[in-house]
Amino acid sequence: MGARLVVVGGGISGLTTAYRLQQALPDATITLIEGDDRLGGKIKSSTFAGVEGLDEGADAFLTRVPSAMNLIAELGLTAQLTSPAIGAAYVWWNGMHSIPEGLMLGVPTDLAKLARTDLLTWGGKLRAALEPILPGTGVGADSVGRLIRKRFGKQVHERLVDPLVGSIYAADTDRFALTGVPQIFDLANNNRSLLLGARAARRKAPPPSGPIFAAPRTGMATLTDALASSLRTSGVTLRTGQPVQSIERSATGWLVDGEVADAVVLATPARTTAPLLNALSADAANVLAKFDHAGVVMVTVALPGDSWPAEFRQRSGYLVPKPVQKWVTAASFASSKWAHWQPVAPDNGVILRISLGRDGRDVTDQSDDALTRAALDEVSRHVGFELQPTEIRLGRWPMAFPQYRPGHAVRVAAIESALARDAAGIFVTGASYHGMGIPACVQQANSAAQLVAKFVANVRN
Ligand SMILES: Cc1cc2nc3c(=O)[nH]c(=O)nc-3n(C[C@H](O)[C@H](O)[C@H](O)COP(=O)(O)OP(=O)(O)OC[C@H]3O[C@@H](n4cnc5c(N)ncnc54)[C@H](O)[C@@H]3O)c2cc1C
Repeated sequence: MGARLVVVGGGISGLTTAYRLQQALPDATITLIEGDDRLGGKIKSSTFAGVEGLDEGADAFLTRVPSAMNLIAELGLTAQLTSPAIGAAYVWWNGMHSIPEGLMLGVPTDLAKLARTDLLTWGGKLRAALEPILPGTGVGADSVGRLIRKRFGKQVHERLVDPLVGSIYAADTDRFALTGVPQIFDLANNNRSLLLGARAARRKAPPPSGPIFAAPRTGMATLTDALASSLRTSGVTLRTGQPVQSIERSATGWLVDGEVADAVVLATPARTTAPLLNALSADAANVLAKFDHAGVVMVTVALPGDSWPAEFRQRSGYLVPKPVQKWVTAASFASSKWAHWQPVAPDNGVILRISLGRDGRDVTDQSDDALTRAALDEVSRHVGFELQPTEIRLGRWPMAFPQYRPGHAVRVAAIESALARDAAGIFVTGASYHGMGIPACVQQANSAAQLVAKFVANVRN
């Protein structure tokens, strides 16, 4: 008889783990158990303003980390991919300012280009210009914010790096691990000057041509739907609406809410994973229970096109730095960013995706009314006229983004070694551990499936 395997959690991490397990162990009996009524986790696409598959959560993935592109290709979805039509964005700092060119996640790599921006004062630019001559700081306290302020000063941190990195992870970069942003970590770890290091790296290996982001035209859920459909076809059992309550030891392995398993993969957020492990590995559970997750809200609006300024049609959206932020952290000019997201009506209308909340400012417990009012009032102030939406959709994402606090890598290593010692055959994977972007989740799922296959092979020999 083949191995009996259970995957808990049906987001991209759990679905990909089950898919890879099925490939590696075709004789295994695999069950995936999802607590929600639908599969996909933070990936969800639905019809809005007549546009089918308009994403409510993640709307794209990085192409330069190959794992997601490879999975897309295996599922036969490559021909369905599209990429943002526009990349250029603004920072709102009491008015719209173009993001300067020559940045790497907000880190300046070109002082001449930085000098041209009106987002920083001359004092801020001069302070940034000192960076190449400062003595090395190394990776220091494993905090993105502390490193960037030390190297480039307060303005580069609060007007560029914190909004750019913060908007990707809903993070407060002062409390976010440098190891969680590998591009900046590597620069700091390998160079005295981040600016000179980034410039040298670009000279050595110019960024590959082609789009940086991609998504299926029919929405990101095309990917999770294709995974689910492939799993069903290959005989994997997919159960929804059944949040796993307990995992116990059995004579031969594990019982997941009574389901027998030789190995279990928990592809659930860290904080929800903790109680499942309390009785099995107190050390792993204690570390997991201390994780913070930032909740966000996405308000999507359709607007008549006649009021929308022509120059905004050339931009993908804007970011709001914390010193001038209330609840809105960013707004994506979604129908400019994605050419296929043109609302069906009114003519030439536009769609905005407005993000509210972040680490340290969780707004997910606010009423629909308060959230919608905040989104419309704040964005009206930012763009300089009153928004009059023809359609509004509000999506809540509690515990959306795990927060990689300084020391994150050490904590993840501690969880993994405690599990290997106390509960061999139980594995964790997903956004809480080694990267939260979709390619990183796919990559981790690939590795989790390999670990399970190795474990099963060892147990059987
Ligand atoms: C608004 C938003 C926008 C984003 N934009 C992007 C983007 O553009 N690009 C990008 O790369 N990433 C983006 N991300 C991040 C990315 O989408 C997520 O990090 C990733 O999808 C997480 O996948 P996961 O499977 O690890 O976790 P999840 O998607 O959280 O899946 C975990 C699943 O476990 C289930 N679960 C929890 N507890 C239990 C239980 N006890 N029993 C059974 N099931 C349980 C949950 O219901 C959930 O379905 C975004 C995230 C959000 C919220």
